[in-house]
Amino acid sequence: MPEQTELHAMRHSLAHIMATAVTTLWPKAKLGVGPVVENGFYYDIVIPDVTISESDFKKIELEMRKVINQKQEFVQSNMPIDEAIKWAQDTNQPYKAELLNDLKRAGTTVAKDLSAEEMGTLAEGGSALDSVGFYTNGSFTDLCRGPHVEHTGMTGAFKLMRVAGAYWRGKEDNDQMQRLYGVAFETKEQLNDHLQMLIEAKKRDHRKIGKEMDLFTFSDLVGPGLPMYTPRGTVLIEEIKKYLREISLDYDMQLVSIPHLAKIDLYEKSGHATKFEAELFRVKSHYDQEFILKPVNCPHHTQIYASQPRSYKDLPIRYVEQTMQYRDEKPGQLGGLQRTRGFTVDDGHTFCRVDQIEQEASSLVEIIMDFYKNLGFWGDHWVSLSVRDYSSPEKYVGEPADWDKAEEMLASVANKYDLDAKKMEGEAAIYGPKLDFMFKDALGRETQLATVQLDFAMPKRFELTYTDDDGEAKTPVMIHRAVLGSFERFIMLLIEHTAGKFPIWLAPEQVRLITVNQEEMTIAKAKEIQEFAKKHGLRVHTDNTNESVGKKIRLSATDKVPYTLVIGEKEIADGIVSPRLRPDISVMDVQSELHYEQFIKTVANEAKARVNKSSL
Ligand SMILES: [Zn+2]
Ligand SMILES: [Zn+2]
Repeated sequence: MPEQTELHAMRHSLAHIMATAVTTLWPKAKLGVGPVVENGFYYDIVIPDVTISESDFKKIELEMRKVINQKQEFVQSNMPIDEAIKWAQDTNQPYKAELLNDLKRAGTTVAKDLSAEEMGTLAEGGSALDSVGFYTNGSFTDLCRGPHVEHTGMTGAFKLMRVAGAYWRGKEDNDQMQRLYGVAFETKEQLNDHLQMLIEAKKRDHRKIGKEMDLFTFSDLVGPGLPMYTPRGTVLIEEIKKYLREISLDYDMQLVSIPHLAKIDLYEKSGHATKFEAELFRVKSHYDQEFILKPVNCPHHTQIYASQPRSYKDLPIRYVEQTMQYRDEKPGQLGGLQRTRGFTVDDGHTFCRVDQIEQEASSLVEIIMDFYKNLGFWGDHWVSLSVRDYSSPEKYVGEPADWDKAEEMLASVANKYDLDAKKMEGEAAIYGPKLDFMFKDALGRETQLATVQLDFAMPKRFELTYTDDDGEAKTPVMIHRAVLGSFERFIMLLIEHTAGKFPIWLAPEQVRLITVNQEEMTIAKAKEIQEFAKKHGLRVHTDNTNESVGKKIRLSATDKVPYTLVIGEKEIADGIVSPRLRPDISVMDVQSELHYEQFIKTVANEAKARVNKSSL
């Protein structure tokens, strides 16, 4: 939800100004809705027999500037609802008429709050509201709740960006409209920064770099939204998995392993069948019932817990697993690794007593901090402590006393690690409070990656119990933890954040050997060094093509290889090498010279320690 700020009013006013321009240029234009979106605004428009293209932007922008220069005042007014409907019909604005009929009938125009049969039909009889608000600037009037800036001259800096197809009210059976997008900021500098960021984002697009660096691929035969990692991309995903596994085991989590499907009954019991409904992949057995490709792992993990009687002394029980989940996303919404139909997660579930929440949440926060500190992401982040809406405690599952304790413990964990957590009232899930970790990437985009989420509901649904020290059966608390959300989305972020310059330990190719010629002695030396590096667990590739050395060095740089070694006469004679470092990992001014064995051992240690900078 965009905030109702001055900038919001500017952007929304620009949507009106754009509609003013479009209806001036094409008087037959019919208007849909024109809301504010991230960084800007749009308006949905239909012009009979006209298709707007980017070549029209100049013309529209020019017309918008005229309106802006005239400093037209935004004047608010009200009209009785029936009069407003007549206004829409008289001005030939059928979409506005439809919205007004919905307003009259239900007091809202939000499609999901309206009955499907009635939507867009005439509202007869009584009215849910007496009058509706309008805003007028110059000769243009629009149905609108505001707020707006005072006059059209107060709208900052803007630029039209693109035009896309959109269905009226987002429904595929409805009319196809054209959605005109613009971006807007308070100042020209901010607008330029944003446009610059978009250029940088395009350069760093993970689909582009993924192809250049040969990291992952899609196939029409396999299907949309189902990425496959190439050998180089698999190095990335496996190294991250390995690292997360190591940290999890350090914190005494135990690895478990579950099948990728289950009976629908499992998800009916967990509530996910209702929650994910249209996103469930259904698999039909030849023999018995329907199965579901797992959309989450929590229900399976409850069944491992339930496989034995548990005593208070057994708790906490901490399961962790790296596995795939499946959601049937709309093909139109899939794109690269951003949103996929199958995605890998590092999923942890801890079962504990209420008095253990603080200790367990602390460990999970430490795992998250370890991971992001080592990746150099820690710093540009913020944490949300999501708690109940205290004005309606009845909508939450679990005992209020447990909630009190749990929220207090999470707050104290946040304090202990100086997380500077923002307390967000009403942001808790109905089944428990949580800590969410939001990270900012190099392009300034914010994504939620990690979470520590308490759950009082699922253990109850599955009737999980433990025997307490007083002999009574009690329900454990479940803590869901995610360190990086989905691996696919994380790898996308990592590619775009680093522009493909992965840290030494993650780089699919850590060292490249370049031969100065194809003579036997040179090839033998390269082979000797490659073998030695392999023995030390490094990923090395030799470029023995007959291109010039300069060209081969440049290629190694575009491939973003951290270390490049040229193998020539000197190297053959005494084994002394002068490694070239990728600039972002280098801290030394002078190129070091050392024996190749020492070089390989140093790089192997750097990879093992997962450092961000090289000591060479
Ligand atoms: Zn408005
Ligand atoms: Zn879970």
